[in-house]
Amino acid sequence: MITLEGVTKVFNTKDRSFTALDDIHLAINKGEYIAIIGKSGSGKSTLLNMMTGIDHPTEGKIILNNTEIGNMNESKLASWRGKNVGIVFQFFQLIPTLTILENILLAMEFVNCIPKPERLKRAMDLLNTVGISEQANKMPASLSGGEQQRAAIARALANDPAIVVADEPTGNLDSKTADSINAIFSALAKSGKTVIVVTHEKDSALRYDRTFTLSDGKIVSSEFKNVSL
Ligand code: ADP
Ligand code: MG
Repeated sequence: MITLEGVTKVFNTKDRSFTALDDIHLAINKGEYIAIIGKSGSGKSTLLNMMTGIDHPTEGKIILNNTEIGNMNESKLASWRGKNVGIVFQFFQLIPTLTILENILLAMEFVNCIPKPERLKRAMDLLNTVGISEQANKMPASLSGGEQQRAAIARALANDPAIVVADEPTGNLDSKTADSINAIFSALAKSGKTVIVVTHEKDSALRYDRTFTLSDGKIVSSEFKNVSL
């Protein structure tokens, strides 16, 4: 579903050139539950941005569903991403001036693939799935961090993407709340979605089908649930 071949990313700033990703090769299958771990600055977010086409590699190829990103124009890529990828951030990034429900409906409007008459029910069903349907008409700021992250997950699922990516989604939550958010991602993976989570929580790696460890822009280990490769 997502293949990276020899992906290198070099950031050039005024006074230096920095290799954030160094010759990454990996292939993620449909329905896999993947963790990407590594220290701050190891390249985790950059790697996610490559996989979703948000940023482009300096060298190498990224193949999404048999199509090389380099061969897609920006509008085709944006439309692919809107339909196929749901993104969850560490700081939720809900629109503060819209209710929780409106945040989800807006995501549907942008992509325009869910028929209009189905949107309200679908949005409420998603809020129900993540356990916050009673907060639908509240503003994000009036919700707890965990509730806001649930809302952000519901928004990520708005257009029924095959792939869900999350960049340190529990990094700003206490451990009990983090567990409940992780349970939602596990359930999504079980339901057949490809779920890719960037996390610091090394001790929880066993929950994933596969864990990639990044260090200085390189994949230094790739472990299946019970087997070290
Ligand atoms: P992580 O998510 O693992 O903390 P990042 O992928 O955000 O790491 O960043 C990896 C490295 O690349 C860091 O050293 C960071 O400073 C650098 N970096 C990331 N984005 C940029 C950018 N746009 N310009 C210059 N350097 C960047
Ligand atoms: Mg990061």
